[in-house]
Amino acid sequence: MISSIRKKISTFFKYAELLLFPSSCKLCLKPLEAIGDRVVCRSCFESLRHRSSSFCLSCGHFFQDSAEPRLCVQCLEKKPGYSLHRSCGQYMGKLKDFILLFKYRGYKILGKDLARFMLQTLGKSEEIWWGVDAVVPVPLHPKRKRHRGFNQAFILAKIIAREKKKALITKCLVKAKNRPPQTVVEAQERGKNIKGAFAVKKAGEIKGKVILLVDDVFTTGATVKECCEMLLQAGAKEVRVITLAQA
Ligand SMILES: [Zn+2]
Ligand SMILES: [Zn+2]
Repeated sequence: MISSIRKKISTFFKYAELLLFPSSCKLCLKPLEAIGDRVVCRSCFESLRHRSSSFCLSCGHFFQDSAEPRLCVQCLEKKPGYSLHRSCGQYMGKLKDFILLFKYRGYKILGKDLARFMLQTLGKSEEIWWGVDAVVPVPLHPKRKRHRGFNQAFILAKIIAREKKKALITKCLVKAKNRPPQTVVEAQERGKNIKGAFAVKKAGEIKGKVILLVDDVFTTGATVKECCEMLLQAGAKEVRVITLAQA
């Protein structure tokens, strides 16, 4: 409780600081001059590039070439539970810096820019949006959320759902167990680490629906795979996934 209040106060002061003392861009250090610039300057935002190379039609894994999208070796063998995953870019360079500022430095306000980047990159792909009934963010465990002050996937999902005029369902898929963050677990252990970590409450809300799951970073895919399994078991008709970046 106290840590949550402290977090709220710190977020408030961060906003106040940005409002009263417009300073320099946290990425390129140039002074923030344009009206509306907060934390990161316009030219850093505009330098975010979506990845234009080819990708796997199923798991969304980026290929090095620019040939037609196709299935990767893993998906030819066994498709993941979700019907498709699309990511905006590679988790590196400016995009990674942006995500780190947003997620770990408490600049919740950057969620707006990042959601806008997702909409610019993926907003027109009919294969993603056609028939989607609801947008669902990958949940954080309440303890982790209190510590961070917000759930980054929720911020992105909320803006995306509003812009695309889709329902937002947030209380259905929950993180039931607080496991070590996937980032500190070895890649091959991530599937095991996340097993049983998510649960579905009020399954009626997703029954028979096409769900678009939203997360920030896709690394091994273990988290979204587990969420997807829970949603399908609870009666969702189909799950698609979008993420800001893939590692
Ligand atoms: Zn900048
Ligand atoms: Zn694949």
